[in-house]
Amino acid sequence: CTRKSVIKIVQSTIAPIQQLQNWLGNGLRPTLIAGPCSAETEEQVHATVKALAASGKVSMIRAGIWKPRTRPNSFEGVGEKGLTWLKDAGIATNLPVMTEVANAHHVELALKAGMDALWIGARTSVNPFTVQEIADALKGLDIPIFVKNPVNPDLQLWIGAIERFMNAGINRIAAIHRGFSYHGESVYRNEPMWEIPIRLRTIMPDLPVFCDPSHICGKRDLLALVSQRAMDMGMDGLMIETHPNPDKAWSDAAQQITPETLLTLINSLAIRQENISSAEIRDGLSELRTRIDLLDAQILDLISARMGIAREIGQYKKENGITILQLERWMEIVKTRGFRADKLGLSDDFIRNYLEQLHKESILHQTRVMNASKGDDGVMW
Ligand code: PEP
Ligand code: MN
Repeated sequence: CTRKSVIKIVQSTIAPIQQLQNWLGNGLRPTLIAGPCSAETEEQVHATVKALAASGKVSMIRAGIWKPRTRPNSFEGVGEKGLTWLKDAGIATNLPVMTEVANAHHVELALKAGMDALWIGARTSVNPFTVQEIADALKGLDIPIFVKNPVNPDLQLWIGAIERFMNAGINRIAAIHRGFSYHGESVYRNEPMWEIPIRLRTIMPDLPVFCDPSHICGKRDLLALVSQRAMDMGMDGLMIETHPNPDKAWSDAAQQITPETLLTLINSLAIRQENISSAEIRDGLSELRTRIDLLDAQILDLISARMGIAREIGQYKKENGITILQLERWMEIVKTRGFRADKLGLSDDFIRNYLEQLHKESILHQTRVMNASKGDDGVMW
């Protein structure tokens, strides 16, 4: 992407966004959505909802009725009858209830059963045809829609799904960050890639954003950590899977927790404010930020000086008929800088990304010097 096209993307997504509003309103964080991964039996639904209501911390109940499963022949949800269990449990506790819809038929049944809100799953938001089908089925209705991020880390696809509901006239929309499929090794079931929900928030500042630590973690022991991280990123709410007997759950057993554990988790969170309230705190922060500003300026000056030398090297390689990429030199850079970065306490991931970007920029500058006469400005990769 050239800079111009990046600006164009941002502008084109900003236009219709006025319609979004932070409709959660009460400003209490986190707004908590909890409930089982799947509705299994009437007793399980009622027991879960009753315990969650008793905690006094939960704003909305979730339960999956139709389950998107990776492999066939696993439990695919109890179907329509579960909607009645869920609605009845909601009425009994005076809590709104929500479920996942993945096609227009689900929407019809969910609305008929009186669901108070709906969510769009990660396997649905990847597909514009399906999202549009659901949006069309909801046209003009006043029901909150929660849009999970697509399975793959594609911010535009996530924004596109949100826009389809905005275009259908839905005014109460929220996003749910549930992590992204990742091919590398990871402690997570779905890699959080926090930079993506952060970018979403900068593009759609009024859109409430929830985090779903259950599907990010895939296992219980990481839930508190990820929930705290979500709060520290300023997210509005959490969606956490809860089950009276998690180990015996029919889906996602390893990541569910009991309503009692959920209460402990929520009470353990440090909720910090994004707004800075006192002048003293503001001054202290601004002093530290000035020091960061200075260092950033120095870093950029140094990088620019480094690119100056890269251009000289480009000229030198051109005169001597040497390729731009010198594999051995590049491997030496990765090794020596990686070693130093490690000693300085910088993360492996960061230094690898940083070096790759630096190298890419350096090659671009060298390419310009070496091949400008052939019309290659080094931008296309
Ligand atoms: C779920 O919430 O139970 C679910 C299936 O989530 P996701 O779409 O995030 O995988
Ligand atoms: Mn689940």
